[in-house]
Amino acid sequence: MNYISVAIDGPSGAGKSTVARAAAMKLCYVYVDTGAMYRAIGLAVCRKGVSGEDAAGIAAALDGIEITLRYENGTQHVLLCGEDVSDAIRTPEIAYYASKVSAVPEVRQFLLDLQRNMAQKGNILMDGRDIGTVILPDAQVKIFLTASAKCRAERRYRELIAKGQDVTLERVLSDIESRDEQDRTRAIAPLRQAEDAVLLDTGNLTLEESIEAVLRIIREKTEGKA
Ligand code: C5P
Repeated sequence: MNYISVAIDGPSGAGKSTVARAAAMKLCYVYVDTGAMYRAIGLAVCRKGVSGEDAAGIAAALDGIEITLRYENGTQHVLLCGEDVSDAIRTPEIAYYASKVSAVPEVRQFLLDLQRNMAQKGNILMDGRDIGTVILPDAQVKIFLTASAKCRAERRYRELIAKGQDVTLERVLSDIESRDEQDRTRAIAPLRQAEDAVLLDTGNLTLEESIEAVLRIIREKTEGKA
């Protein structure tokens, strides 16, 4: 049985997860947020007291880590050794650790099979940084979702302020720029647009328009295939 795989990659804060989740729900595809897996490993490493700079320590910490995804009413929950850490991974500290662990080859290898196996089981929409380039190079649909760093920072800033967090726009922008730099320049699986990916800049689009644009691309590419 041939399932449809949709790969959505792009930098942090481009609205990938929100857009991808909504599009997957509309199409009844399973949504896989691979960033959550890196964050769960980041959380485990942080809890073990391993430094983000200690690549060998991070690789060693993988021993005994088990990451599972569970779906409840279509919502992805990420489990770390059986514990639901879906909320605990959404902090700036864990975003930092996620970015650090994601540059360690052993971590990427650890998640590669897990992610590829998910695409064997049904129609999926997977978002991340290297889905179209490394994880699912044969995906029927590849989208590179992006927006300028300033635009992404303004959106993230508004979200954080709405959640009551004490942040400045300058700090959010500099965090985004340093994560972009780290994701784009790392030696292994750097963030880049696959040659056959459709570029979608969400800078001037509302959330609804971005979701519509993604759905349109998926429908065009999969017409008659599912
Ligand atoms: O998308 P999100 O911000 O949750 O991702 C957390 C971190 O995981 C990112 O900073 C990125 O470095 C890393 N990541 C990755 N490859 C993926 C998904 C996320 O390197 N496929």
